[in-house]
Amino acid sequence: MPLRTTVLSGALILCGCLACCGGETKSNVPSGEDSATELEKAIRSAEKVELFFVPPPGPDRDTSEKLVLETKEEVQDFLSLVVLTPKPACECEHGKMLRFTTGKKKITASICSHCFDVVEDGKVRNFKMPKELWAKFCEYEKKHKAEEK
Ligand SMILES: [Zn+2]
Repeated sequence: MPLRTTVLSGALILCGCLACCGGETKSNVPSGEDSATELEKAIRSAEKVELFFVPPPGPDRDTSEKLVLETKEEVQDFLSLVVLTPKPACECEHGKMLRFTTGKKKITASICSHCFDVVEDGKVRNFKMPKELWAKFCEYEKKHKAEEK
């Protein structure tokens, strides 16, 4: 337990750029909004959701520190919280990841408490992390760590 607390607060310190992107930043890229909607749709139609609590060793490799949402309800519940709002990139380090699978397509998001950065074909698109989604992620992480003991 003390270890987990350290890890969590460590992550918070890493993401110390709240000041730079915590404020309301209106996106001025209207052309990006259509594709954000498209992407949001694609993610919301995923049938498999994986939560990574530590970075995988390689882009396509897995890690034991992950959790796969098991039931349809869990997947739907989690996906319903995905709302993509474009935001400027920030320079915090991310140690956590989400992976959504729809058929053969995999969409990966590098995340922290305030970023939801979608990585596709080596390109990164920056979105805000919805509060409820982050809360849900942390809830699963807590549960996952507790079950490991
Ligand atoms: Zn971040």
